[in-house]
Amino acid sequence: MILFKACKRCNGDMYDAVDIYGPYWECIQCGHMIDLPDERLAKAEAEGRALRAARKAARTQAPAKVPVPVKVAA
Ligand SMILES: [Zn+2]
Repeated sequence: MILFKACKRCNGDMYDAVDIYGPYWECIQCGHMIDLPDERLAKAEAEGRALRAARKAARTQAPAKVPVPVKVAA
């Protein structure tokens, strides 16, 4: 897709492209580039946050209560 006159540097036309670093817009006239949010990166970061939260919860969780055997008088 092409965005006409969208470049903030030269008011040129920009097209979308993707490389190994993720998606971006690049100006045809001056080469100015704008990185776009990468969904893969956002997903990986969200998974990392969830994993760290789960580990922290597991560390701070109180130890499970073990039932104490009660001696019943016979
Ligand atoms: Zn430009």
